[in-house]
Amino acid sequence: MSSSILNRLEIQQGDITQLKVDAIVNAANTSLLGGGGVDGAIHRAAGPLLLAECRTLGGCPTGEARITRGYNLPAKHVIHTVGPVYSGKPRDAQLLRSCYQNSLVHAVAHKLRTVAFPAISCGVYGYPIADACKIAVDTCIETLKAHPEFEKIIFVLFSPSDLGVYADYLRTFNVG
Ligand code: ADP
Repeated sequence: MSSSILNRLEIQQGDITQLKVDAIVNAANTSLLGGGGVDGAIHRAAGPLLLAECRTLGGCPTGEARITRGYNLPAKHVIHTVGPVYSGKPRDAQLLRSCYQNSLVHAVAHKLRTVAFPAISCGVYGYPIADACKIAVDTCIETLKAHPEFEKIIFVLFSPSDLGVYADYLRTFNVG
């Protein structure tokens, strides 16, 4: 793996609503009308105009993504994507991969350079973090390779143990 690609991937522990990036990604639900977890935190921090814009979008199917403004967030945009509810079937992985891919399609189309992702589906939706981490990192690396103009993708993990999972996986790229 070329180090220039790995240099454009970052992991952090913390609250994604605090990040001053071109876009943060929201792990939304199909209604796009807010919920708990990271979705609730993003809506609280962005203010009511985010919900007003989301109401105009008519929802979002699982695996797809929609983009809005960031309103009171430090981030300029929010990319809302809907992860799969974990079922243990192979389709889960396909849908989760689509979430990362489709989120980044919006980022590229809007010429965004810095995007932060939470661990989509790894809260209430129950996706095992180690499996989800591989999908997230592998999919984002593909986009970084295809788009040299893309500056940085940041994975923001809420817990130290989730951060550890990402750190361990990223370390495997540096071995040998
Ligand atoms: P899902 O329904 O897709 O599982 P959740 O919001 O329940 O979404 O959880 C997704 C991940 O986001 C979980 O790992 C959770 O710990 C994390 N999370 C919750 N709040 C925040 C936040 N403010 N910033 C970053 N990550 C968060």
